[in-house]
Amino acid sequence: MSHTAEANTARCVHCGREVKPTRHTRTGYRVDYYSMHTGESEPGTLLNEDGSVEMVYQKLLHAREIITCVDCYARAEAQAERERLFRPERVNGATLQAD
Ligand SMILES: [Zn+2]
Repeated sequence: MSHTAEANTARCVHCGREVKPTRHTRTGYRVDYYSMHTGESEPGTLLNEDGSVEMVYQKLLHAREIITCVDCYARAEAQAERERLFRPERVNGATLQAD
């Protein structure tokens, strides 16, 4: 077992299996996982010069990489988990209650 390779090992957050980098060939490429950047966020506001709100945005506090292997990506539970990890405020907050 190579310890240098182990340091760069990426694992699926759902099943824990090791994922391989995307392999490019002459005719195309083979994807082994999907990666998504997310993290804890808080609402931030951008103000106009007169102090009125120009826009509200989500400010990223702690970045986190979510890795999903192709096997899990096909599963509905994994899709739901990705959605929850990507937008925790949607699960806990007002969007769900709006229906
Ligand atoms: Zn997986």
